[in-house]
Amino acid sequence: MPDRHRNFIHGEWRDARSGLTFPDINPSDTDDLIGFFPQSGPEDVDDAVTAAANALPAWRRTPAPKRAELMFRVGEIMTRRKEELSRLMTREMGKVLSEARGDVQEAIDTAYHIAGEGRRLHGITTPSELPDKWAMTIRQPIGVAGLITPWNFPIAIPTWKSFPALVAGCTVVLKPAEDTPLCATELVRVFHEAGFPAGTVNLVHGGGPDVGAPLVRHKDVGVVSFTGSSEVGRQIAESCGRALKRCSLEMGGKNAQIVLEDADLDLAIQGSLWGAFATTGQRCTATSRIIVQRSIHDRYVERLAAEAARVRIGYGLEDGIQMGPLINEGQRTTVAKYVDIGKAEGARLVCGGAAYREGRCARGFFFQPTVFDRVTPSMRIAREEIFGPVASVIAVDDLDQAIQVLNGTSYGLSSSIYTRDVAGAFRAMSEIECGIVYVNGPTIGAETHLPFGGWKDTGNGHREGGVSAFQAFTEEKTIYVDYSGRLQRAQIDNQPALESRP
Ligand code: ADP
Repeated sequence: MPDRHRNFIHGEWRDARSGLTFPDINPSDTDDLIGFFPQSGPEDVDDAVTAAANALPAWRRTPAPKRAELMFRVGEIMTRRKEELSRLMTREMGKVLSEARGDVQEAIDTAYHIAGEGRRLHGITTPSELPDKWAMTIRQPIGVAGLITPWNFPIAIPTWKSFPALVAGCTVVLKPAEDTPLCATELVRVFHEAGFPAGTVNLVHGGGPDVGAPLVRHKDVGVVSFTGSSEVGRQIAESCGRALKRCSLEMGGKNAQIVLEDADLDLAIQGSLWGAFATTGQRCTATSRIIVQRSIHDRYVERLAAEAARVRIGYGLEDGIQMGPLINEGQRTTVAKYVDIGKAEGARLVCGGAAYREGRCARGFFFQPTVFDRVTPSMRIAREEIFGPVASVIAVDDLDQAIQVLNGTSYGLSSSIYTRDVAGAFRAMSEIECGIVYVNGPTIGAETHLPFGGWKDTGNGHREGGVSAFQAFTEEKTIYVDYSGRLQRAQIDNQPALESRP
């Protein structure tokens, strides 16, 4: 009998008030029912936000290094449970086991990094322009943070948001994706075991409109952090805009890898394969365009297609499997639709292009690694995010045109250039309009202690990762302390009188 799971509100596991549930299934094997989760509604969101608001005064007064000690414990518990969490992630979400281990490791790295920041959370001190006066800044928590997360990094992304929020002194309500509720539940169990006080961490399962939207709108939620589609991100930004509420958005990408004729082509091919097909192309940083200099184009496409056709597809808990399924049937339909669009637009399908149903894979949402060439920048497959194992190769004459094509989409998350020319690499680093640039590495592979986020339609100026992550969850306060014992007027009393100037 599959387990029946619950929301976590004020330190207790609770059903949705409606009593309704939804099923969670294994995308590699739809006969494998993982469990049932509460199909919550606005009333459950209200309970969770109230719990978070009630926990806030004591939590924000707890010294940040003390809050961070609990985060160190989170890192230790996750290290102990890493293998178990990774395996359940592969079962629930489909990414192959080595990648699931990477997802959990990212959470562990984030825990230790963010816990260390609990002893810093630096502001600045700076000289005042007046004598006997100090000037400094501190950062303080905004309040209750509403966190809305996707399924593609089902543990890492919730930790990118919740760890800095909690160490900053916010309390949180997490609304995880409907496709990966078990990973979020296990993460919350880790918080519970680490000893986070009741109400500081709350979890509400359910759908976007039923749980996500009321969480965004709730008057006691001070900041929203969202990762997901641009379409939903826009709705969230509108809702937060009306309420003048802080929101940090991390949305789509149409990431490109440039390969110039002087590149190490073996390395570039490996980068294309890993960038385009890891996590079945379902990373926001996945390589979906490969911009290749015309002189090497034919050779490159031939090798890429040959390697792509060799990728071993299957259930990610089995040995030797390199690529798992798509997350659900809806996503497989979307990917198939884009293959049709690409063909209709005149691109040439060089490998893949269809669902993969060999043997046991017939029970899951598998899709072949797919490569198009003769793609032009104006085609929809070159402009729109597909979120599947589909790479589009675009031929260009030189670096200038490559950068122009790379920048020619509405997104600006990740990018990559393969070249041995130092001057060309530096030009690309400077001129690419993206939040992340890799030189001689693929578009995927962010490290947790550096800022992560995108330009243009990918984001709204906030960053996750690194110390930048704290900006979303804190307000800055500027403090002046005047111990001169007299009225000192800034901009007035420190200027010599006009008549005394030479
Ligand atoms: P994806 O395509 O990755 O599923 P979505 O943007 O649809 O991206 O979903 C990302 C997260 O946003 C999920 O947790 C989802 O439930 C939530 N969500 C979807 N619609 C809304 C909405 N209208 N308001 C708030 N959250 C939503």
